[in-house]
Amino acid sequence: MGHLLGYPICCCQKIAVVGEMYIDEWEALFVKKTHFEGRYKIINPKGYREGYSLISHIPCSPNCEPSLNIAQKALSIIMLNKYNKYFDKWNYWTNAAID
Ligand SMILES: [Zn+2]
Repeated sequence: MGHLLGYPICCCQKIAVVGEMYIDEWEALFVKKTHFEGRYKIINPKGYREGYSLISHIPCSPNCEPSLNIAQKALSIIMLNKYNKYFDKWNYWTNAAID
């Protein structure tokens, strides 16, 4: 399913190991236990349930490059539209100190 949605192969393979039926539990544990540093802060899926995550999948690791590429593309679109009211949901990312 992840392949159809354009998720990175490495992340799809990780979920295949975890098991599709345990995605929610895995996501909760992953967000709680994983520290995202530096530029990888933008692949933290912690806003997934609230709909403001920059990626719509769970990254395979806290330094997944394909996930970072997706998040950077999403962030660039959000930054271009930061004053558009329809992008308010993602203000977390435009206001956050992201290095
Ligand atoms: Zn990955």
